[in-house]
Amino acid sequence: MGQKATFTRRLLAWWRRAARDLPWRHTRDPYRVLVSEVMLQQTQVSRVLEYYPRFLERFPNLETLARARPRAVREAWDGLGYYARARNLHALAKHVTRRNDATLPERPEELVRLPGVGPYTAGAVASFAYEKPVPAVDTNVARVVRRAFFASRISHPASRQVWELTRTLVPKNGKRAWRFNQAIMELGALICVARKPKCPECPVRRNCKTGKGKS
Ligand code: SF4
Repeated sequence: MGQKATFTRRLLAWWRRAARDLPWRHTRDPYRVLVSEVMLQQTQVSRVLEYYPRFLERFPNLETLARARPRAVREAWDGLGYYARARNLHALAKHVTRRNDATLPERPEELVRLPGVGPYTAGAVASFAYEKPVPAVDTNVARVVRRAFFASRISHPASRQVWELTRTLVPKNGKRAWRFNQAIMELGALICVARKPKCPECPVRRNCKTGKGKS
């Protein structure tokens, strides 16, 4: 089995043991996935756990969000910070309900054209809602991939290189790709953390150019 395949196998085995039980991991509803992804940008999971159910209760789908007054959206977001995210989400809801039958597109190339949706969010919605076998590279994933695959060759690989490498890791099967994307993100959030990675307890240590040999 090749290095990349072993990396994925170990990562997925760890995910089965260690994954946190988070509400957005129980849904494939594209709107709910999108709301979680937008909230999680620049905000701690613990804080999102408070706001996510409240926001969905108030705006359970794209149509209700599209119809809402800006002030109501602002109130529901108040305290989460970076209000531009809510404004973009509101603009997206209006755009999609006007043009796309209130359905979010499935492909990252289409998702990325929506207001406030960057390459990461597009990949995340395509994978976490539609189970498309595509990469979703956020800060956590980029850090894991850089440390694991580039450390000894290139110390600062360009974001394009990190995306391309991640693309080669994503399993072809959509359900497995869903788990892979969740798992690598979780590894970056819990083990391969920014300041002091916990290499001795990392499940992919033996496949990692940075962590190999650390104990
Ligand atoms: S071994 Fe260390 S550097 Fe490598 S992925 Fe794991 S935590 Fe990150």
